[in-house]
Amino acid sequence: MTHSSIIISKSVFRNCFSRFFKFAIIFIILLLVNTGCNKRKPETPTPDIQINEQYWIRVLLLNNIQQCSIQIESHFSIKEENRVQNSKSKKDYKPLKEPVIVQIIDGQINIAKQNYPSNQIIISPKDPYIFSLNGKSYRGKVRLIAKSDANSFDVINLVPLESYIAGVAGAEMPDYWEPEALKCQAIAARTYCLFIKKRFGENRTWDLNKTAAHQVYLGMEAESPAVWQAVNETHGIVLTCRQPDGTEDIFPTYYSSACGGHTEDSENVFGDSYESLKGVPCTYCKDVAKEEIFFWPDVQFEKDEVYSRLMNRYPNLNRLGEVKEISVDKQSDFGEFSRITRVKISGPNNISEFLRAEDFRLVIDPTGKKIKSAVCTLEESETEYIFTNGRGWGHGVGICQCGVQGMARQGKSTEEILSHYYPDSKYYEIDYNK
Ligand SMILES: [Zn+2]
Repeated sequence: MTHSSIIISKSVFRNCFSRFFKFAIIFIILLLVNTGCNKRKPETPTPDIQINEQYWIRVLLLNNIQQCSIQIESHFSIKEENRVQNSKSKKDYKPLKEPVIVQIIDGQINIAKQNYPSNQIIISPKDPYIFSLNGKSYRGKVRLIAKSDANSFDVINLVPLESYIAGVAGAEMPDYWEPEALKCQAIAARTYCLFIKKRFGENRTWDLNKTAAHQVYLGMEAESPAVWQAVNETHGIVLTCRQPDGTEDIFPTYYSSACGGHTEDSENVFGDSYESLKGVPCTYCKDVAKEEIFFWPDVQFEKDEVYSRLMNRYPNLNRLGEVKEISVDKQSDFGEFSRITRVKISGPNNISEFLRAEDFRLVIDPTGKKIKSAVCTLEESETEYIFTNGRGWGHGVGICQCGVQGMARQGKSTEEILSHYYPDSKYYEIDYNK
């Protein structure tokens, strides 16, 4: 090999090497961009946007507020509802480069410094049908309703059912859990939402609250490819069971975090009775729930503090004069997994009131993070109430989410898991086009 040939081959090698690097860098950038996009926008545009109105869900995002910010990166329209007297109640707008402020001025809704006389406004983004509220992205449309005090307004997200379910399933369950567990969560959330909409939606301007009072909804923040896979693979599927009147229909598919060993009869917690909401043994959550949740540590509350919280929340307790004693009145019959279901609150003159244990627990500890469940023993010292021998987290009716993950890990199918926690329930597939 001559000296010059060595130089040539070195230069060829350098060229190849630098080309390889260029390709590698471009490949890595493409990969990152792709993965990033997948994470942010797994389903674009928003699916089912033409769906029948009865399958849109109205979610209360903010209530009684004075101000919020909205941004829409696509073209959009603003329609003033309840304003039939002229044809200019709907206007189209170009995409917003910056968020705009929505507020109440002179008793009217004001968007980007323009007043709207109607007390109800609908903002409808065009493709991909996404808006951002206070920096968080949601799908569908947004309805603003000025309150009768003319000093505040509510913000309601109108969202097609499947997109709503994605925003719930990913908020209520970690998206890295088993695909079968996520599918159970999607079916339970879908059934529960339609039940609540049907039972309570007619008499109010929204169907569900975005909090755990119903089910947690975080909009697109909760979405991921795994969540959308679970939603799409269970598209339109809900559960039905035999109703108290003998017909077959959807039912309130309650769920909670970890039952602690046995789920609870709905009748004992919420007062409604369904065949598919009977307590069942659960040996699955113990291996999934954290130790401090499955066996939660004792908590103490000062008696005076307990009494004043109860009086503040339930003014009718004033008829007792004062609270002298709290005792367990009823509990379920599941051995070591029994749940306190009713407490007796007594005054000095042998007068008593009764409270559901679940309400009692959440009045004493509104976070639900200390007294995690009613599977516990109520003891007392001279000055304190002590909640001891606690197990599990949540009300314990229906699906035990940690148990669902435990069953899924053992290879059980979505149908097997759901028919364990909701015995005698049946699949029903909704046809959204009807
Ligand atoms: Zn369980």
